[in-house]
Amino acid sequence: MENCIFCKIASGEIPSATLYEDEDFRVILDLGPATKGHALILPKKHAANIAEMPDDLLGRAASVAKKVAVAMKEGLSCDGVNIVQNNGEAAGQTVFHFHMHIIPRYNGDNAGVTWTPGKLTDEMKEEILNAVKVK
Ligand code: AMP
Ligand code: ZN
Repeated sequence: MENCIFCKIASGEIPSATLYEDEDFRVILDLGPATKGHALILPKKHAANIAEMPDDLLGRAASVAKKVAVAMKEGLSCDGVNIVQNNGEAAGQTVFHFHMHIIPRYNGDNAGVTWTPGKLTDEMKEEILNAVKVK
C-alpha cells in the first residue's frame, strides 16, 4: 500500500524502535505510549482492519501478542497487560493498517483502557441475539 505509514514501518523503509521481527510481523514501540513499553504488532502485509486479515495471519498475530506480553512481564516487571485492537474511526482507529496494541499495565498507572459499565436489559439482549449472526 502506497502512502501507508505502517506498511513503510513494517517493511523497514521507515526506521522504528523494533522489539521483535519475523517473516510476517514487526513489533514496534508506540510513539505515543499509554504506558512505559506500549508496543504495536504490525503485519508486513497490508490489511486495513481485522475483517481484512487472513485467518492464519490473525492467529499468528495472537501468538506474537502472547510472546510480547510474556516478555514485557519479564523485562518490565509490569503488573498486567492489555491487548487492544481498534477497528474503524468510531472505535478509535487512527491508522488504517491492522495493528494490535500491547499495553503493559502498572498498579495505579491510570491508563485509560476502560469504560463505564452500562446495563444489559432483556429487550437489548433479545435484539442483539436476533441481529448478530456469527458464521
Ligand atoms: P489506533 O488509534 O488504534 O489506530 O492506534 C494508532 C497508534 O499508532 C497510536 O497509539 C499512535 O500513537 C501510534 N503511531 C502513529 N504513528 C506512529 C509511528 N510513526 N510510529 C509509532 N507509533 C505510531
Ligand atoms: Zn499498510
